[in-house]
Amino acid sequence: SKLEGRGKYTVFVGSMMEDAKRKMQIAGAIEDAIRNNHFKVYYQPKVNADGHTMGYEALIRWIDEDLGFVSPAEFIPIAEQSGKISAITSWVMTRVFTELPDFVKENPNIKVSMNLSAIDIKNKSLFTEIQTKMSQYQVAAENIEFEVTESAYLENFEQANQVFSNLQKMGCTIALDDFGTGYSSLAYLTQISLDTLKIDKQFVDNLGHSDSSTLITSAIIDMANRLELQICAEGVETREQADFLISQGCQQLQGYFFGRPAPLEDVLSKYN
Ligand code: C2E
Ligand code: CA
Ligand code: CA
Ligand code: CA
Repeated sequence: SKLEGRGKYTVFVGSMMEDAKRKMQIAGAIEDAIRNNHFKVYYQPKVNADGHTMGYEALIRWIDEDLGFVSPAEFIPIAEQSGKISAITSWVMTRVFTELPDFVKENPNIKVSMNLSAIDIKNKSLFTEIQTKMSQYQVAAENIEFEVTESAYLENFEQANQVFSNLQKMGCTIALDDFGTGYSSLAYLTQISLDTLKIDKQFVDNLGHSDSSTLITSAIIDMANRLELQICAEGVETREQADFLISQGCQQLQGYFFGRPAPLEDVLSKYN
Protein backbone atom coordinates (compact mmCIF):
# COMPACT_ATOMS: atom_id res chain seq x y z
CA SER A 1 0.00 0.00 0.00
CA LYS A 2 0.89 3.66 -0.23
CA LEU A 3 1.23 4.03 3.51
CA GLU A 4 3.55 1.08 3.78
CA GLY A 5 5.66 2.46 0.97
CA ARG A 6 5.96 5.82 2.70
CA GLY A 7 7.00 4.10 5.90
CA LYS A 8 9.77 2.27 4.09
CA TYR A 9 10.90 5.54 2.51
CA THR A 10 11.18 7.16 5.93
CA VAL A 11 13.17 4.21 7.24
CA PHE A 12 15.42 4.40 4.18
CA VAL A 13 16.12 8.15 4.58
CA GLY A 14 16.60 7.63 8.29
CA SER A 15 19.22 4.97 7.72
CA MET A 16 20.92 7.14 5.10
CA MET A 17 21.23 9.90 7.68
CA GLU A 18 22.58 7.47 10.26
CA ASP A 19 25.04 6.35 7.63
CA ALA A 20 26.15 9.91 6.82
CA LYS A 21 26.47 10.68 10.52
CA ARG A 22 28.69 7.66 11.10
CA LYS A 23 30.84 8.55 8.09
CA MET A 24 31.37 12.07 9.43
CA GLN A 25 32.15 10.71 12.86
CA ILE A 26 34.70 8.30 11.40
CA ALA A 27 36.29 10.97 9.19
CA GLY A 28 36.74 13.21 12.24
CA ALA A 29 38.08 10.40 14.39
CA ILE A 30 40.69 9.44 11.75
CA GLU A 31 42.44 12.79 12.25
CA ASP A 32 42.56 12.12 15.94
CA ALA A 33 43.81 8.58 15.48
CA ILE A 34 46.71 9.76 13.34
CA ARG A 35 47.64 12.50 15.79
CA ASN A 36 47.44 10.23 18.82
CA ASN A 37 48.90 7.08 17.28
CA HIS A 38 45.73 5.04 17.78
CA PHE A 39 46.31 2.90 14.69
CA LYS A 40 48.21 -0.37 14.73
CA VAL A 41 49.71 -2.50 12.00
CA TYR A 42 49.07 -6.23 11.99
CA TYR A 43 51.02 -8.65 9.81
CA GLN A 44 49.63 -11.68 8.03
CA PRO A 45 52.04 -14.36 6.75
CA LYS A 46 52.33 -15.40 3.12
CA VAL A 47 53.79 -18.86 2.64
CA ASN A 48 55.31 -20.59 -0.37
CA ALA A 49 54.37 -24.06 -1.64
CA ASP A 50 56.73 -25.66 0.93
CA GLY A 51 54.87 -23.93 3.73
CA HIS A 52 57.73 -21.55 4.53
CA THR A 53 56.88 -17.95 5.33
CA MET A 54 58.20 -15.79 2.50
CA GLY A 55 56.43 -12.56 3.36
CA TYR A 56 53.89 -10.65 5.37
CA GLU A 57 51.09 -8.29 4.42
CA ALA A 58 50.77 -5.21 6.62
CA LEU A 59 47.12 -4.51 7.50
CA ILE A 60 46.00 -1.48 9.47
CA ARG A 61 43.95 -1.88 12.66
CA TRP A 62 42.04 0.71 14.64
CA ILE A 63 40.18 0.65 17.92
CA ASP A 64 38.61 4.03 18.62
CA GLU A 65 37.62 5.05 22.17
CA ASP A 66 34.04 5.87 21.13
CA LEU A 67 33.48 3.86 17.95
CA GLY A 68 35.18 0.68 19.11
CA PHE A 69 36.79 -1.58 16.50
CA VAL A 70 36.38 -0.09 13.04
CA SER A 71 37.24 -2.31 10.09
CA PRO A 72 39.62 -0.93 7.44
CA ALA A 73 37.04 -2.12 4.91
CA GLU A 74 34.84 0.63 6.39
CA PHE A 75 37.26 3.43 7.25
CA ILE A 76 39.73 3.25 4.33
CA PRO A 77 37.03 4.25 1.78
CA ILE A 78 35.97 7.08 4.12
CA ALA A 79 39.58 8.21 4.42
CA GLU A 80 39.82 8.16 0.62
CA GLN A 81 36.69 10.29 0.25
CA SER A 82 37.66 12.77 2.94
CA GLY A 83 41.23 13.46 1.85
CA LYS A 84 42.86 11.59 4.72
CA ILE A 85 44.22 8.54 2.95
CA SER A 86 47.68 9.94 2.23
CA ALA A 87 48.19 10.66 5.93
CA ILE A 88 47.20 7.07 6.72
CA THR A 89 49.50 5.68 4.03
CA SER A 90 52.41 7.73 5.41
CA TRP A 91 51.66 6.52 8.91
CA VAL A 92 51.55 2.86 7.83
CA MET A 93 54.73 3.24 5.79
CA THR A 94 56.62 4.74 8.71
CA ARG A 95 55.46 1.96 10.99
CA VAL A 96 56.32 -0.80 8.50
CA PHE A 97 59.77 0.68 7.78
CA THR A 98 60.43 1.03 11.52
CA GLU A 99 59.51 -2.60 12.17
CA LEU A 100 61.15 -4.03 9.05
CA PRO A 101 64.59 -4.72 10.64
CA ASP A 102 62.99 -7.28 12.98
CA PHE A 103 61.64 -9.19 9.99
CA VAL A 104 64.90 -8.92 8.04
CA LYS A 105 66.91 -10.18 11.03
CA GLU A 106 64.84 -13.35 10.91
CA ASN A 107 64.92 -13.72 7.12
CA PRO A 108 67.03 -11.41 4.91
CA ASN A 109 64.86 -12.28 1.88
CA ILE A 110 61.57 -11.43 3.54
CA LYS A 111 58.99 -9.36 1.62
CA VAL A 112 56.72 -7.13 3.62
CA SER A 113 53.87 -5.74 1.58
CA MET A 114 51.73 -2.72 2.22
CA ASN A 115 48.55 -1.59 0.52
CA LEU A 116 48.43 1.59 -1.53
CA SER A 117 45.15 3.27 -2.41
CA ALA A 118 44.33 4.43 -5.94
CA ILE A 119 44.42 7.98 -4.52
CA ASP A 120 48.02 7.46 -3.38
CA ILE A 121 49.01 6.49 -6.91
CA LYS A 122 47.58 9.77 -8.22
CA ASN A 123 49.61 11.69 -5.67
CA LYS A 124 52.58 13.19 -7.53
CA SER A 125 54.81 13.17 -4.46
CA LEU A 126 54.25 9.51 -3.51
CA PHE A 127 57.38 8.18 -5.19
CA THR A 128 59.63 10.84 -3.64
CA GLU A 129 58.10 10.19 -0.25
CA ILE A 130 58.78 6.45 -0.54
CA GLN A 131 62.38 7.11 -1.64
CA THR A 132 62.98 9.58 1.18
CA LYS A 133 61.49 7.31 3.84
CA MET A 134 63.43 4.31 2.55
CA SER A 135 66.74 6.08 2.89
CA GLN A 136 65.74 7.62 6.22
CA TYR A 137 64.93 4.18 7.68
CA GLN A 138 67.66 2.40 5.68
CA VAL A 139 65.15 0.05 4.11
CA ALA A 140 66.29 -2.25 1.30
CA ALA A 141 63.75 -1.84 -1.50
CA GLU A 142 64.00 -5.61 -2.17
CA ASN A 143 62.23 -6.25 1.14
CA ILE A 144 59.19 -4.18 0.20
CA GLU A 145 56.18 -4.98 -1.94
CA PHE A 146 53.29 -2.65 -2.73
CA GLU A 147 49.77 -4.00 -3.25
CA VAL A 148 47.49 -2.01 -5.53
CA THR A 149 44.09 -2.70 -7.04
CA GLU A 150 43.32 -2.18 -10.70
CA SER A 151 41.39 1.00 -9.81
CA ALA A 152 44.85 2.55 -9.37
CA TYR A 153 45.51 2.42 -13.09
CA LEU A 154 42.05 2.41 -14.66
CA GLU A 155 41.79 6.20 -14.43
CA ASN A 156 45.27 7.19 -15.46
CA PHE A 157 47.19 4.31 -16.88
CA GLU A 158 50.31 6.29 -17.85
CA GLN A 159 50.74 7.98 -14.50
CA ALA A 160 50.15 4.77 -12.55
CA ASN A 161 52.49 2.73 -14.69
CA GLN A 162 55.17 5.38 -14.25
CA VAL A 163 54.91 5.04 -10.47
CA PHE A 164 54.94 1.23 -10.61
CA SER A 165 57.91 1.09 -12.95
CA ASN A 166 59.85 3.61 -10.83
CA LEU A 167 59.21 1.48 -7.75
CA GLN A 168 60.30 -1.64 -9.62
CA LYS A 169 63.49 0.05 -10.79
CA MET A 170 64.29 0.82 -7.16
CA GLY A 171 63.92 -2.89 -6.37
CA CYS A 172 60.43 -3.07 -4.85
CA THR A 173 57.83 -5.45 -6.23
CA ILE A 174 54.25 -4.68 -7.20
CA ALA A 175 51.28 -6.97 -6.59
CA LEU A 176 47.87 -6.54 -8.21
CA ASP A 177 45.34 -7.07 -5.41
CA ASP A 178 41.83 -8.58 -5.63
CA PHE A 179 42.53 -9.89 -9.11
CA GLY A 180 39.49 -11.19 -10.96
CA THR A 181 36.88 -9.00 -9.27
CA GLY A 182 37.12 -5.82 -11.32
CA TYR A 183 36.66 -4.72 -14.86
CA SER A 184 40.15 -4.41 -16.21
CA SER A 185 41.04 -5.80 -19.55
CA LEU A 186 43.44 -8.74 -19.51
CA ALA A 187 45.47 -6.86 -22.10
CA TYR A 188 46.66 -4.54 -19.31
CA LEU A 189 48.47 -7.39 -17.64
CA THR A 190 51.17 -7.43 -20.25
CA GLN A 191 51.52 -3.64 -20.38
CA ILE A 192 51.77 -2.80 -16.72
CA SER A 193 54.79 -3.10 -14.43
CA LEU A 194 53.70 -5.99 -12.25
CA ASP A 195 55.33 -8.85 -10.37
CA THR A 196 52.48 -10.68 -8.70
CA LEU A 197 48.76 -11.33 -9.14
CA LYS A 198 46.73 -11.87 -6.00
CA ILE A 199 43.70 -14.03 -6.78
CA ASP A 200 40.74 -12.68 -4.87
CA LYS A 201 39.39 -14.58 -1.89
CA GLN A 202 36.00 -15.09 -3.55
CA PHE A 203 37.51 -17.59 -6.01
CA VAL A 204 39.34 -19.40 -3.23
CA ASP A 205 36.12 -19.51 -1.13
CA ASN A 206 34.27 -21.26 -3.92
CA LEU A 207 36.92 -23.87 -4.71
CA GLY A 208 35.25 -27.26 -4.64
CA HIS A 209 31.78 -25.67 -4.39
CA SER A 210 31.51 -24.07 -7.78
CA ASP A 211 32.90 -25.67 -10.91
CA SER A 212 33.27 -22.31 -12.61
CA SER A 213 35.29 -20.80 -9.72
CA THR A 214 37.54 -23.85 -9.69
CA LEU A 215 38.03 -23.58 -13.43
CA ILE A 216 38.68 -19.83 -13.33
CA THR A 217 41.17 -20.22 -10.48
CA SER A 218 43.14 -22.85 -12.42
CA ALA A 219 43.04 -20.68 -15.51
CA ILE A 220 44.28 -17.58 -13.63
CA ILE A 221 47.16 -19.54 -12.09
CA ASP A 222 48.08 -20.99 -15.47
CA MET A 223 47.90 -17.58 -17.16
CA ALA A 224 50.05 -15.95 -14.45
CA ASN A 225 52.67 -18.67 -14.80
CA ARG A 226 52.75 -18.26 -18.57
CA LEU A 227 53.08 -14.49 -18.20
CA GLU A 228 55.90 -15.14 -15.71
CA LEU A 229 54.03 -13.39 -12.95
CA GLN A 230 54.05 -14.67 -9.38
CA ILE A 231 50.68 -15.76 -8.13
CA CYS A 232 49.36 -15.38 -4.58
CA ALA A 233 46.04 -16.82 -3.39
CA GLU A 234 44.19 -14.82 -0.72
CA GLY A 235 41.80 -16.07 1.94
CA VAL A 236 43.02 -19.67 2.10
CA GLU A 237 41.15 -21.21 5.03
CA THR A 238 41.45 -24.97 4.54
CA ARG A 239 44.08 -27.58 3.73
CA GLU A 240 41.97 -28.70 0.76
CA GLN A 241 42.10 -25.21 -0.75
CA ALA A 242 45.86 -24.98 -0.13
CA ASP A 243 46.54 -28.42 -1.66
CA PHE A 244 44.47 -27.66 -4.73
CA LEU A 245 46.09 -24.24 -5.29
CA ILE A 246 49.58 -25.71 -4.94
CA SER A 247 48.72 -28.56 -7.33
CA GLN A 248 47.72 -25.94 -9.91
CA GLY A 249 51.05 -24.10 -9.61
CA CYS A 250 50.24 -21.32 -7.15
CA GLN A 251 53.48 -20.10 -5.48
CA GLN A 252 52.21 -17.97 -2.62
CA LEU A 253 49.37 -18.63 -0.19
CA GLN A 254 47.83 -16.36 2.39
CA GLY A 255 44.88 -16.91 4.71
CA TYR A 256 43.64 -17.93 8.12
CA PHE A 257 44.77 -21.52 7.47
CA PHE A 258 48.38 -20.28 7.69
CA GLY A 259 47.88 -17.40 10.08
CA ARG A 260 45.63 -14.51 10.92
CA PRO A 261 46.91 -10.95 10.86
CA ALA A 262 48.64 -10.31 14.20
CA PRO A 263 50.99 -7.81 15.86
CA LEU A 264 54.71 -8.08 15.15
CA GLU A 265 55.39 -9.66 18.58
CA ASP A 266 53.02 -12.50 17.75
CA VAL A 267 54.32 -13.31 14.28
CA LEU A 268 58.07 -13.23 14.93
CA SER A 269 59.56 -16.38 16.45
CA LYS A 270 62.06 -14.50 18.62
CA TYR A 271 59.18 -13.30 20.78
CA ASN A 272 57.59 -16.75 20.99
P1 C2E B 1 42.86 -6.67 1.24
O1 C2E B 1 44.06 -5.87 0.92
O2 C2E B 1 42.27 -7.49 0.15
O3 C2E B 1 43.27 -7.55 2.50
C1 C2E B 1 42.83 -8.86 2.72
C2 C2E B 1 41.75 -8.91 3.78
O4 C2E B 1 41.32 -10.26 3.95
C3 C2E B 1 42.21 -8.46 5.16
O5 C2E B 1 41.09 -7.84 5.80
C4 C2E B 1 42.55 -9.79 5.84
O6 C2E B 1 42.50 -9.70 7.26
C5 C2E B 1 41.46 -10.65 5.31
N1 C2E B 1 41.81 -12.08 5.29
C6 C2E B 1 43.03 -12.64 5.09
N2 C2E B 1 42.96 -13.98 5.10
C7 C2E B 1 41.66 -14.29 5.31
C8 C2E B 1 40.94 -15.54 5.43
O7 C2E B 1 41.50 -16.63 5.33
N3 C2E B 1 39.60 -15.44 5.62
C9 C2E B 1 38.95 -14.25 5.74
N4 C2E B 1 37.63 -14.24 5.95
N5 C2E B 1 39.59 -13.05 5.62
C10 C2E B 1 40.93 -13.09 5.41
P2 C2E B 1 41.24 -6.47 6.59
O8 C2E B 1 42.53 -6.45 7.32
O9 C2E B 1 39.98 -6.27 7.34
O10 C2E B 1 41.37 -5.39 5.44
C11 C2E B 1 40.30 -5.13 4.55
C12 C2E B 1 40.75 -4.24 3.42
O11 C2E B 1 41.08 -2.94 3.92
C13 C2E B 1 42.00 -4.73 2.72
O12 C2E B 1 41.67 -5.72 1.79
C14 C2E B 1 42.48 -3.44 2.08
O13 C2E B 1 41.77 -3.18 0.90
C15 C2E B 1 42.12 -2.42 3.13
N6 C2E B 1 43.32 -2.14 3.97
C16 C2E B 1 43.76 -2.77 5.09
N7 C2E B 1 44.88 -2.18 5.57
C17 C2E B 1 45.16 -1.15 4.72
C18 C2E B 1 46.21 -0.15 4.68
O14 C2E B 1 47.13 -0.09 5.50
N8 C2E B 1 46.14 0.76 3.64
C19 C2E B 1 45.14 0.71 2.70
N9 C2E B 1 45.16 1.63 1.70
N10 C2E B 1 44.17 -0.23 2.71
C20 C2E B 1 44.17 -1.14 3.71
CA1 CA C 1 46.03 -6.33 0.03
CA1 CA D 1 42.98 -8.55 -1.57
CA1 CA E 1 39.88 -6.65 -0.83
